[in-house]
Amino acid sequence: MDEFDLIARFFKRDKTYAHVPVNIGDDCAVVDLPAGSELAFSVDTLLPDVHFFAQDDPALIAERSLRVSLSDLAAMGAEPLCFTLALSLPHADEQWLESFSQGLHQTADQLSCPLVGGDTVRGPLAISIHVQGHIPRGKAIRRSGAQIGDVICVSGPMGDGAAALQSLKGELSLSQSASEYFHARFHRPEPQFSVGVALRDLANSAIDVSDGLVADLGHICKASKVAAELDLESIPLAYFMQAEVERSQALKWALNGGDDYHLCFTLPESKIQDFEALNAATSGKLAIIGRIVEGEGVRSLPGQEAISTLGYSHFG
Ligand code: ADP
Ligand code: MG
Repeated sequence: MDEFDLIARFFKRDKTYAHVPVNIGDDCAVVDLPAGSELAFSVDTLLPDVHFFAQDDPALIAERSLRVSLSDLAAMGAEPLCFTLALSLPHADEQWLESFSQGLHQTADQLSCPLVGGDTVRGPLAISIHVQGHIPRGKAIRRSGAQIGDVICVSGPMGDGAAALQSLKGELSLSQSASEYFHARFHRPEPQFSVGVALRDLANSAIDVSDGLVADLGHICKASKVAAELDLESIPLAYFMQAEVERSQALKWALNGGDDYHLCFTLPESKIQDFEALNAATSGKLAIIGRIVEGEGVRSLPGQEAISTLGYSHFG
């Protein structure tokens, strides 16, 4: 099987999308952008034993890879358009490719974000996913917009990614239902598109939590030249986290673990009613966890325990 057979067999599909007039097989893909919108795009490279376990089910590797890449679009308030895939493979393992491509296309269809092209080379296993999204002109939510007095919010429970990782490594023992919950959070993180879209008119700043809440909120603070004060008591924890993980460990993971792929965002006090309405209309899992203040860095409320500011860093 040469490179072209491989692409034809596993990546080219009969299914068509109306907004993709030129698909896999030409020098470029051509994609239609909705009128009045801007293109938002981002690339992520995922490596075995850094971002996924090489021995995992390839369909799950594909699903997670696409989902975490799409999370960046959600964080800007963008909606998915399409993606490309640069794949480096040590050899053309047909079984692996069959499962990987099936997981990839299935996730792409679920999230309405088709694969429109890519590149395939022989080399150490590496998966690069380049996602493209669309957003009404001027509406992108940036990291740099946080204002003093904004409340700080998250779109769901924190720390699940870290707990999942510990459990998958065999270093955390959990009940059957708790491990099912956490493993699903690891393999199938949900890009927060509906929250992100609603935040276009509410939030002053947003980021997705991939390196850890404190680290990622720290990026908002740095870009916005402000500080964040967190109420550690208000940080939402999943039911299974509360039930099966000791509180101080859970809090550490919630603050400094990564891989949650929920959104952390800030909005002015005047938008809190809209925020509550959004919460009622969507997940009911949105939470206010602190406030933007003058200064720099991320800290806890006076009187609460000090927080560590360490997050995940590839070169740290
Ligand atoms: P070129 O040499 O013009 O860059 P390639 O030979 O690399 O093109 O790829 C041929 C076609 O297959 C292109 O349309 C490209 O986008 C697509 N393609 C290559 N690898 C992949 C992949 N892993 N997934 C999806 N499409 C791919
Ligand atoms: Mg070409």
